[in-house]
Amino acid sequence: MKIDKIECTILDYPLPVPLKPSWAPGRTFKTTSCLLVRVTTEDGITGIGAGPDCGRAGLYTIADLLAPYLLGKDVFCIEQISPIIRQAAKDGSYPWSVEMALWDIIGKAANQPVYRLWGAFQDTLPVYASLAEVVPVEEQIQRLYMLKEMGFGAVKLRLRRPDINDDIRVVQQIRAEFGDTLKLMVDANQAHVMPCPNPIGAWNYEDALKVAEAMYELDVLWLEEPLPRYGLEQIARLTAATKIPIAGGELHKGLHEYKQIIDMNCYDIIQADAAFSEGIFQLRKVAALAELSYKRFIPHTWSNGIGMGANLHLAASLPNCPWFEFPIDPPAWTNESRDFMMAEPFHISKDGTITVSNKPGLGLELNEDAIRQYSRLIWSSDELKDWN
Ligand SMILES: [Mg+2]
Repeated sequence: MKIDKIECTILDYPLPVPLKPSWAPGRTFKTTSCLLVRVTTEDGITGIGAGPDCGRAGLYTIADLLAPYLLGKDVFCIEQISPIIRQAAKDGSYPWSVEMALWDIIGKAANQPVYRLWGAFQDTLPVYASLAEVVPVEEQIQRLYMLKEMGFGAVKLRLRRPDINDDIRVVQQIRAEFGDTLKLMVDANQAHVMPCPNPIGAWNYEDALKVAEAMYELDVLWLEEPLPRYGLEQIARLTAATKIPIAGGELHKGLHEYKQIIDMNCYDIIQADAAFSEGIFQLRKVAALAELSYKRFIPHTWSNGIGMGANLHLAASLPNCPWFEFPIDPPAWTNESRDFMMAEPFHISKDGTITVSNKPGLGLELNEDAIRQYSRLIWSSDELKDWN
């Protein structure tokens, strides 16, 4: 089943109100964008994937570094194709969505959902609402009541105030407000900051230890990214010193980096992402190494609806994935903001769970009208045929 065509579309969708995410202090996002990939075989099966929008760098990665070497390849030979994608990632930017599209094709050809091809450990997972913004505590509490009303039983808060004592106080107030009716996680986002006008200096070891101990006392389920990404010895020291599980790893790249952070016991919970970190099938190797090392693997999913949907198949296939990250933070980041390119946005069930689709492949259908309306840049591998 040979690859005949690869198409890329950068989509740009206006958010209902601007988003001010904790990972880009001082920046306001009026739109959300992504790179949609469609791969079609000679037999006429089309698979889809989507990753972050890296502008022309994203298109160049797929158009120049990847497509010439993928056309004509058998989609089933993922282990032959993955090294090519990995090399393109090294010289370019986030091409992993191509592997998502190949698995969508394989599932459609086999008439099976992808997670069932990989072992189908579970079809329903508890979700946590993964917030984006740091807001005043009164507003945060209002937002949490709304999320509880929607069925969420767990929420991941962002900690990124200039003073860690303010972060701790806010979590104390939220715990006092909700008692044990809401499970809490916290994400410090200290590993990475996007280019922004007000970058806040990262926590040092003492800050991270103080917050970790306070969060443990508040019965928070994990502390995410408390230290800079490549301070591996320091992260491992913190994980060994604290009772609260430490989570991280969302933007590491390549299998070798995950091997290192797992071997060094940097995190209790590994959070690789099929849109940012490696191919979705390759991440099953990372999850297996985590399982053998008595660690959980709970994928990061903050990209777009298709990326989240692909990560859901990965999560459903794993025995060591007890939660699923569900990015939502109204009024800016709604189900529609995240999933505008899909015919049906994801929703959770009233009991705070999500169920993976049982349709073949990734089970995702595109909203072609929305794609036409919000397309910003388009590229097709037919251009390469014209050159030959
Ligand atoms: Mg995170």
